[in-house]
Amino acid sequence: MKKLGIYIHIPFCVKKCGYCDFYSVKWDEESENSYVRSAINEIKGYVNIKDAYLVDTIYIGGGTPSVIMPQNIENLIGALKNTFTVAENAEISMEANPNTLTGKLNAYRESGINRLSIGIQSLNDNILKTIGRVHNSKEALRAIDSAQKWGFDNINGDVMFNIPGQTLEDIKDTMHQLIGKGIRHISFYSLKLEEGTPMYSMEKDKEISMPGEDLEREMYYAGREIMENHGLIQYEISNFAFKGYECRHNLKYWNQEEYLGIGPSAHSFMGNVRYSNPSSLKEYILNGGKKKFQRNIQEVLNEDELMFEYIMLRLRLTEGLKFAEFKNKYSRDFKETYKEQIDKLLKDNLIYLDDAGIRLTHRGMDISNYVFALFM
Ligand code: SF4
Repeated sequence: MKKLGIYIHIPFCVKKCGYCDFYSVKWDEESENSYVRSAINEIKGYVNIKDAYLVDTIYIGGGTPSVIMPQNIENLIGALKNTFTVAENAEISMEANPNTLTGKLNAYRESGINRLSIGIQSLNDNILKTIGRVHNSKEALRAIDSAQKWGFDNINGDVMFNIPGQTLEDIKDTMHQLIGKGIRHISFYSLKLEEGTPMYSMEKDKEISMPGEDLEREMYYAGREIMENHGLIQYEISNFAFKGYECRHNLKYWNQEEYLGIGPSAHSFMGNVRYSNPSSLKEYILNGGKKKFQRNIQEVLNEDELMFEYIMLRLRLTEGLKFAEFKNKYSRDFKETYKEQIDKLLKDNLIYLDDAGIRLTHRGMDISNYVFALFM
């Protein structure tokens, strides 16, 4: 049986953060119930692949999954288990925001969720205000305590750097406090202002200013150093974990494995086809998640495109690209095909090369987009 990851997009938030361009709308109870009915219909529509795949990871993301009723999270997971063959040891992750967890953690454990990803972002209250988060640092720390109390051992904290007004000290302090709490995984992302978001306009109107390229890199190095000194191993450009706590679902994306997306705006990659659901809750509810509505084919990737994408994704991982795996997947000799690129990248100290494969150096990670473009 082939392995499959499933992503469920919960398209609700309490309030939109100033930098966010993910698809989400303001939560209300009626929309929540209609959404869940449609999502369950969409899930049931896949019953025909039950015997073809073993679902070994489920990721409930958003939006803010923790704004909806725990009973509905349980209903969604129940529908997945009734429709697909779900592995006994499946990783079941859910994203949560600190101030939406009260009274729900026990129910999440009971539903089978075994990994919690909490949107901490920063433990400086001014910084949290700048990016428009609805929680404060106390609530964030309390959320970690409560989750641990209810038996969640596998907790990720999302941390953001490159925020207007943020200092190196802020990053160091946030890292130390989180690590002190016994967190097992940290996703460490640089803020990029996307067009159409309030913060993008504020920056254009000079109401806020970004830290600048040098400070942005210094923040990244400082965070990385603290995590590595405390045993969180970098396994991807932006992701760090204690051994054995790497996110199995996200690894599927970087390993170019198949995944199925449920819910408005969710993306899927099945075979060599990428498709997505329209980013409209209204449409999703109106169509009841029926199959004809879901398959917006974005791209059917040919072999060259798949190969380029695979190189780019694998190089994001600190393990890098393995020649044997590449040959197995694409029946080509990597070193022969990309001799010119390898020579250039070695000369510029952007990759390490050994008998098994190539991987990015720290400098290569700093300018990874340049490295990827060379393989295009
Ligand atoms: S909580 Fe997450 S998904 Fe919702 S607006 Fe903020 S960043 Fe976006």
